[in-house]
Amino acid sequence: CGIVGYVGPQPALDVVVAGLKRLEYRGYDSAGVAVLADGGLAAAKKAGKLVNLEKELVDRPLPTGATGIGHTRWATHGAPNDANAHPHLDNSGCVAVVHNGIIENFALLRAELEERGHALSSETDTEVVAHLLAEEYSATADLGEAMRLVCRRLEGAFTLVAVHADEPEVVVGARRNSPLVVGVGEGEAFLASDVSAFIAHTRSAIELGQDQVVELRRDGVTVTGFDGRPAEVRSFHIDWDASA
Ligand code: GLU
Repeated sequence: CGIVGYVGPQPALDVVVAGLKRLEYRGYDSAGVAVLADGGLAAAKKAGKLVNLEKELVDRPLPTGATGIGHTRWATHGAPNDANAHPHLDNSGCVAVVHNGIIENFALLRAELEERGHALSSETDTEVVAHLLAEEYSATADLGEAMRLVCRRLEGAFTLVAVHADEPEVVVGARRNSPLVVGVGEGEAFLASDVSAFIAHTRSAIELGQDQVVELRRDGVTVTGFDGRPAEVRSFHIDWDASA
């Protein structure tokens, strides 16, 4: 239901959790985060309110890293429990993905993945994306390109945000029929389902168009279509009152 991503000099988890709090008004049943740190990927997720996740992060702290993603879930496929909460990881634990919306053709994709030996551990429509990204990453070693290739195989409405342990300072997002906005700061970048998640950090934003993929790095963002062509983007200044 709510998505936040960050890359930059601040501790990513702090930025991501604060952003998720700003999105709480949207309603949700579970929450989770993933962070890239120490050459690996670490994740935590919990059913219930954000306080449950925050307690989990106190009991079992994640390493501090410069790149992170977070999610608040409104379950559509699978009960609202810890296993179905996002992020979802592939079997190697190198890819983490969060998702808003519905992947309509997930059952077919899931059957194909299982036939190729993947073990899926949730009931969600989302988890197939983590496994598909892992496959495409093995072939391309490029998370942005892997996302474009996967998105072309998906049907339905989705905002997807992913990270890969081998690209420790990159966050990739994609959207079709579901919102995603990017915030551009000084040496840092944000993305979220709603600008309120990063308005405390930057007022410079980019609205992603239909069927576009964004790659976030500290030194800037690049946007392409699912076909890989450079995309027209709409930049805007957020001028509403941050306290609203
Ligand atoms: N369809 C996904 C799920 O049930 C995402 C739901 C959402 O938008 O939060 O896990």
